[in-house]
Amino acid sequence: VVPTKPTITASTCCYCGVGCGVLIEHDGERILGVQGDPDHPANFGRLCSKGASLHLTGDVDARARYPELRLGKTPARSRTDWDTALDHAATVFADTITAHGPDSVAFYISGQLLTEDYYAFNKLARAMVHTNNIDSNSRLCMSSAVVGYKRSLGADAPPCSYEDIEQSDCLLIVGSNMAYAHPVLFRRLEAAKAARPQMRIIVVDPRRTDTCELADLHLAILPGTDVALFHGLLHLLLWEGWIDRAYIDAHTQGFDELKLLVRDYSPASVARLCGISLEELQHCARLISSAPTFLSLWCMGLNQSTAGSAKNSALINLHLATGQIGKPGAGPFSLTGQPNAMGGRETGSLSNLLPGHREAGNPEHRAEVAAYWGVEQLPVTNGLSAVELFDAVHDGRIKALWIACTNPAQSLPDQQKIHEALSRCPCVVVQDAFATTETCSFADLLLPAASWGEKDGTVTNSERRISRVRRAVTPPGEARTDWSIICDFARRLEQRLRPGRPSLFDFTSPEALFEEYKGLTAGRDLDYSGLSHAVLEQLGPQQWPFPPGARQGTPRLYLDGRFSTADGRARFIAEPYRAAKELRDARYPLLLNTGRLRDQWHGMSRTGTAAQLFGHAPDAVLGLHPDDLRQRQLRHGDLVRLRSRRGSLILPVHADEALLPGQAWLPMHWGNRFLKGLGINVLTQPAFDPLSKQPELKISAVDVEKV
Ligand code: SF4
Repeated sequence: VVPTKPTITASTCCYCGVGCGVLIEHDGERILGVQGDPDHPANFGRLCSKGASLHLTGDVDARARYPELRLGKTPARSRTDWDTALDHAATVFADTITAHGPDSVAFYISGQLLTEDYYAFNKLARAMVHTNNIDSNSRLCMSSAVVGYKRSLGADAPPCSYEDIEQSDCLLIVGSNMAYAHPVLFRRLEAAKAARPQMRIIVVDPRRTDTCELADLHLAILPGTDVALFHGLLHLLLWEGWIDRAYIDAHTQGFDELKLLVRDYSPASVARLCGISLEELQHCARLISSAPTFLSLWCMGLNQSTAGSAKNSALINLHLATGQIGKPGAGPFSLTGQPNAMGGRETGSLSNLLPGHREAGNPEHRAEVAAYWGVEQLPVTNGLSAVELFDAVHDGRIKALWIACTNPAQSLPDQQKIHEALSRCPCVVVQDAFATTETCSFADLLLPAASWGEKDGTVTNSERRISRVRRAVTPPGEARTDWSIICDFARRLEQRLRPGRPSLFDFTSPEALFEEYKGLTAGRDLDYSGLSHAVLEQLGPQQWPFPPGARQGTPRLYLDGRFSTADGRARFIAEPYRAAKELRDARYPLLLNTGRLRDQWHGMSRTGTAAQLFGHAPDAVLGLHPDDLRQRQLRHGDLVRLRSRRGSLILPVHADEALLPGQAWLPMHWGNRFLKGLGINVLTQPAFDPLSKQPELKISAVDVEKV
């Protein structure tokens, strides 16, 4: 038998925010292999271990294939048909809204949905249900960066491109193990450093991660002290006259107030507070100031913090003070965790946002969107952010919850409380491709969704680049695309809540959703109303803004020094350093940090189905500094009980010299499917940043004892 050549469909990787182009090899029914797309400008053919294993993660046994329903909490779910499932959901949601008001229901969605899916969910929540109770797991990921960009630069728009990473003379990587979390971008950085050894790389991270292997300087600051570090650096830059006064005068506001604040951050006191030497701090300031171009990259180490907004703003302050923004190789550049966290921000998929980078709290923005959708008004009441939303489920204010493409029973902090909330909620609908997630076990209604390789649409990566995601094969069983599930449900809900009125959801394709949605970007900072699926087909992935008539996207923002604020000037933000919410004390003398492994993704819904991806790290293991093991008379490999104020876990402990004494580290991926009892997040704390509402997943006080 002569083997037939596989068909190739170009798409985008479904894991991290690098957004690599992938060529899917398939026979129309099965995905047979994957290759990096040599023509995709994010990766030029490279893939990391996760992307290169995508074809191994389609385990059909793990997939949700048929709708399943239970009436009441005790019986197991049984298979049903789509009509029964969606009619049931529409009846429960309509009855709940009628009896208790629109804010008694909520939607918790995901940075792994496509832009078209996101848009449908937003229109459903705001225009149809009339609630702002729609939040995304991007709240756990990027919401502090959103606040940072908006406060300082006037819009949630990362100003840089990946090629800036290659062109920069000095890179500051803060709170990001890029080597594991954004591997293909890290490979690009490695290649650039090899080609230009004079490029300087500074890594700021309490752990000595693999990313530090490339660093000329590693600042192992104490957890949570980033704001003090940035203010201390600015103090030094000011003292030495290494700021760009002309840029500050021409393009910014608020420098005098910040100058007063950082006067108190003397280098010696900052070095002491951060746990580094004065020489290291001075060396860092010198590297930044002497480089013709300076770029910073950051991720969860800054964002997942009760001071996440302040950390983002303090870092952006450094760029504004040195004029290192709006030119090749320079600028503040957040790395997005999820493949389409950016698309979520664009479509308004955080409770405080609206489509087109608008604010739910802004009456003019509400009126614009309401007029576009042809509804009288949009909801005025503030929506709940992720942690608040699950608190409201826990205390009974939310009675019907729709969860799509995410696994909050594993990924939210204070997991015991999340499990209680989901157990108590009268109606939990879970729309997911995988039936094995921790959250699925709480579903009263499980709706099987199409997964990567089975659906069409678009995603936006960290550098504002919109790429096509394409369907190669048919979803298993009766699984359906996310956009079609939500539009079908919305039409049934319309019949119950606004009968006789024209449907707001007569979309027949993801392209139709994109066409309607893009109109809401017109004239806004992110304007991509010049794009369409057809234009992307013709020109390939493009960076926004891409207004009508554009021939190509926009690689860099703010080249003319004009920002997205009303007066065009960027803002310095003067906020003092605040310590993390939980500090070490006698009962909990260690600080727990959680993070990513190289070969796993989030809650392992997909990567957990491929045995090969456990080769790098087969189990969840607690890391402690050898001194901390010795003090507790523990040995490498011992089983220990790790305890926080919220719960405990039993795990093996390993000696880890990459950690500072007093710190503990765990991979974030393991839920209760893989661990006995509860998952890693039983330990983590739900305290969140007052502005971004992003929880402090990176710092929880813990203790450890031998079992
Ligand atoms: Fe996928 Fe990210 Fe790896 Fe690229 S770097 S292949 S987007 S996981």
